[in-house]
Amino acid sequence: MRVSEGRVTVTVPEQPDAGKGADVFFNPVQELNRDITVAALRAYRERTPRVSTYLDATAASGIRGVRAAANDWETTLCDIDDDATALCEQNLERNDLAASVRRSDANVLMHSEAFDVVDVDPFGTPIPFADAAVQGTKHLLCVTATDTAPLCGAHFESGVRSYGAVPRNTEFHAEMGMRVLLSAMVRTAARYDIAARPILSHATKHYARTYLEFDHGAKVANDCIDELGYVHHCQHCLWRDHDYGLIADPPEACPVCDEHLQTAGPIWLGRTCDPAFADAVSEQVTEEMGTADEARELLATLSEEIDTPTHYDQHRLCKRWGRGAEAMDEFIEKLRDAGYEASRTHYGGTTFKTDADVVEIREATAE
Ligand code: SAM
Repeated sequence: MRVSEGRVTVTVPEQPDAGKGADVFFNPVQELNRDITVAALRAYRERTPRVSTYLDATAASGIRGVRAAANDWETTLCDIDDDATALCEQNLERNDLAASVRRSDANVLMHSEAFDVVDVDPFGTPIPFADAAVQGTKHLLCVTATDTAPLCGAHFESGVRSYGAVPRNTEFHAEMGMRVLLSAMVRTAARYDIAARPILSHATKHYARTYLEFDHGAKVANDCIDELGYVHHCQHCLWRDHDYGLIADPPEACPVCDEHLQTAGPIWLGRTCDPAFADAVSEQVTEEMGTADEARELLATLSEEIDTPTHYDQHRLCKRWGRGAEAMDEFIEKLRDAGYEASRTHYGGTTFKTDADVVEIREATAE
């Protein structure tokens, strides 16, 4: 099957059962992820002009690395599978592009060589690659995780095992998953005296994706650790709060309804995006990208998302309060009119962020 994305056309095997059982994996649904990757690579090169090398560590058909090579990155494509690396070679040749192809365990490669930008886009969790990826990255580490059930607490024990954090299955589950992933990556980098700061992150129901910029030194790594902490959440009235530090300090009960609180963490409580970088990435989205409109819309929402560690869902709140939902723009305007910060979020069409708590939201948005 022939697939055109961006400036390249590649061959991929038919995918019989959503990629399972195919000789080499390919997921057309990840086109948005790949389009944003290419735009982020272009924007990152403008932000850090000396970068030139890119490793597609888990390349499969090579579509991601081939697209990077077509954008003048000095690219290495790695896969542990013979069929995959053979297909990477063919796909480079088909597009008249040169890149290095390695049939190797990515962990071995990343432990022995470092690249300006490393991209880890594996099946499920990226954690088995995390230590080597930190070693093998000079500037920017791009990571996808598709194991959303462990990340967001729906598969609790698996999440605890993989990520070394307590995830909770809250109504802000996609953001919980993103922040659990970021916590694990930040803690992994900190072990090597590296600060890993997310400059772009987005989540859908299928995956979480983040771009972590590295800064070296114990002091900056400590500063990153200081942005880890806990979220305390009431399943009954949907109140939540957070505190920084590696020792959880939850209130005894929900201050609004006196019900039991659930605590998740340590999760990343800091910014998940640099709004200026999201804007720069958006400027690099070009018309040859199949998801250009969707990518621009997503990046605009990311750029405007206010910096709080959890989001709300208007429909969930209104259901809890026994009242009808209203248009998001009007709802957000009411919060702003009452003096609160408020924005939509990319986690869903009825989600929003605000610095108001759940009681203040209810009062501010009452008829
Ligand atoms: N990045 C690809 C894309 O955008 O289409 C998809 C990658 S696919 C989800 C994961 C790939 O990782 C598979 O081709 C698999 O063979 C490869 N893989 C699994 N374990 C690996 C390892 N230890 N080292 C390198 N590649 C590995």
